[in-house]
Amino acid sequence: MPGNGSLNGDEAAIRAAAEQIAAARYCTALTGAGISKESGIPTFRGEGGLWTRQGEPPMNGYQLFLEDPRGWWLERLEQQRNPPEFAKAIATARPNPGHLALAQLEQRGFLKHLISQNVDGLHLDAGSTRLTEIHGNRRKLRCIACGRRGPARDFGEDDVPPHCDACGGIVKADTVMFGEPIPRAFIDACFAEAAKSDLMLVIGTSATVHPAADLPLQVLRRGGAIIEMNVDATPFSAYATVSLRGPAGVLLPQVVQALDSFDPRPERPAV
Ligand code: NAD
Ligand code: ZN
Repeated sequence: MPGNGSLNGDEAAIRAAAEQIAAARYCTALTGAGISKESGIPTFRGEGGLWTRQGEPPMNGYQLFLEDPRGWWLERLEQQRNPPEFAKAIATARPNPGHLALAQLEQRGFLKHLISQNVDGLHLDAGSTRLTEIHGNRRKLRCIACGRRGPARDFGEDDVPPHCDACGGIVKADTVMFGEPIPRAFIDACFAEAAKSDLMLVIGTSATVHPAADLPLQVLRRGGAIIEMNVDATPFSAYATVSLRGPAGVLLPQVVQALDSFDPRPERPAV
């Protein structure tokens, strides 16, 4: 029943969320910067957000990279010596109870796939394996010619920009830059998961960045439901069957605990 969401994180709302997760045929989740806030990584938007405090960065980052990949890499190497706030926070962050709860939901068979907009790698650290990082991963590099991804490796300033071992193409950070098309394989994987979902948990995201924000819309359009977990209202709050208001690191463990009395449905093939 879109529009009938419970606007709190009380026991009844937690229980309602758990019931829907247990009853779902194929439940997926979309996470955003909010789930990592309790790990000490600032969000971009909203109260205390990096952009709220420092202003938005240029939106043509990829074009700037293509114009001068060597300059971009030299700046990045310099930043490794003197990391800005966001990089420093990511370097030391550990998964919080919200990340761990999502990994448990997967292990217990309730969560079939997790799509994260985050680049911090904390879902991997928490143990999630059925995971698509739609905006890439800060600890990886990617070739702009053949798309090959690999762990970040050391290279010196005389090897800048680094080149791909497989095809010789220019290598960039795996994280998707502003103005850069998201790699086709990431997008296709995410929309295939959304198409299978009769329930999507939308957690800690302002749901304003596309195409990630289109994923819950697709679930709704196909007759599925969404459960939202966020400290604030978002454009999806009005459409959520349950809208839990609070920190993801508090709400998610409560939902996992409430699921103790339910068995997951066996996985069925996609419709
Ligand atoms: P956003 O910064 O636009 O929005 C964050 C959302 O999280 C807001 O709706 C806010 O109300 C909510 N929130 C804040 N604290 C929360 C908490 N403790 N529990 C639950 N919700 C909370 O982030 P976005 O929607 O993910 O999109 C912005 C883009 O920025 C994404 O592409 C994302 O990859 C990137 N980003 C990534 C990181 C990261 O990797 N950790 C951090 C900042 C931004
Ligand atoms: Zn290559």
